[in-house]
Amino acid sequence: MGTSAFAEHYQCRSCSRSDLQLIVDLGSQPLANSFLSRDELLQMEPTYPLPLLYCRNCHLVQIPPATNAQAIFSDYLYMSSYTRSWVDHARAYVEKMTQRFKLGPQSRVIEIASNDGYLLQFLCRKGIPALGIEPAANVAKLAEDKGIPTRVAFFGKETAHALVAEGLAADLTVANNVLAHVPDLDDFVGGFAVILKSEGVATFEFPHLANLIGQTQFDTIYHEHFSYISLIAARTFFSRHALRVFDVEKLPTHGGSLRLYVCRENAGHATTLAVDALIEVERTLGLDRTETFENFAGACRRVKNDLLKFLIAAAEDGKLVCGYGAPAKGNTLLNFCGARSDLVAFTVDRNPHKQNRFLPGTHIPILPPEEIAVKQPDYVLILPWNIKTEICQQMDHVRSWGGKFVVAVPELNVF
Ligand SMILES: [Zn+2]
Repeated sequence: MGTSAFAEHYQCRSCSRSDLQLIVDLGSQPLANSFLSRDELLQMEPTYPLPLLYCRNCHLVQIPPATNAQAIFSDYLYMSSYTRSWVDHARAYVEKMTQRFKLGPQSRVIEIASNDGYLLQFLCRKGIPALGIEPAANVAKLAEDKGIPTRVAFFGKETAHALVAEGLAADLTVANNVLAHVPDLDDFVGGFAVILKSEGVATFEFPHLANLIGQTQFDTIYHEHFSYISLIAARTFFSRHALRVFDVEKLPTHGGSLRLYVCRENAGHATTLAVDALIEVERTLGLDRTETFENFAGACRRVKNDLLKFLIAAAEDGKLVCGYGAPAKGNTLLNFCGARSDLVAFTVDRNPHKQNRFLPGTHIPILPPEEIAVKQPDYVLILPWNIKTEICQQMDHVRSWGGKFVVAVPELNVF
């Protein structure tokens, strides 16, 4: 670690101070969700630096802005409904919130980055007024087609003021896996200080920095993922907008996430003991100390070297290796390793919008999952390791021809 051109050039996304340190440089990478058509393989492909930075002032781990968010999100391919376990998670969330905060026909729930309505559909079925805010027009249309009211907009103070002016203040706002993806964190968080009713609750789910560091999940670093958040850093940016974290839960999603419950500073929701307890855990883990991040950089290099050694050995033995899944995190891993179709022949994905396209940077072809039974690879490298159990169950037939599964993170495992 130390100073670098990156650290000197940028200001912190949360506190605006110029006190950043380079943790690890993942090289120059294409946008992790910019899947390519066959024609695009012939064209120049934009890449952007991908350094991970740490703010010594407010402890937010972050990457610098690569390009404007509009370009990233306007034709976004990720649609939540394609992941079964994620829809189950959304259904359980709606049940829990409906009971805890006594939501009913008199309430209003607003989801930020509501995608294709995978979550709000469960509120609509209960007769609870729901509104989605979704920046990608093509994805918002899918929600509207299902009868889920959705506005095409980026969320921030301006959008929040407009909604409140229409009488659309919220009893509950949902922001699952969006906080980390917001380029202007301060404006985004400020929007909740506008849109919440006086006793309203905002929940936020995001991958916990503790898991990124503790389990070497460096492949969750990509350009669309701007911030890597601890409770220490979150409490600081919420309090800047007179918002208070009053409860926190740990979730297994995305390799280990936090769900924060946030309200206005003077609202009636009592702060639970879980909040201070987790702050203590984070201090013990060293999430506010530079040495912690120096050790993390060494662990990232080990994952890269071990995966490359495995892939090269497999290639020299004449083994066929394919991937499973085409998640953003897989692209960070494969591009950091420089592994192309000579080492990973193809990958498969259930999402038909990704099939017959190519991974950005590595240009590995994406096929339908049925192709695995046809080609019978010796090894299936599972790229979305967070749902590896589900994938192993679905793809159990791989074992019938002696095939094995491989994950690279947090360390190489062939099973
Ligand atoms: Zn900062």
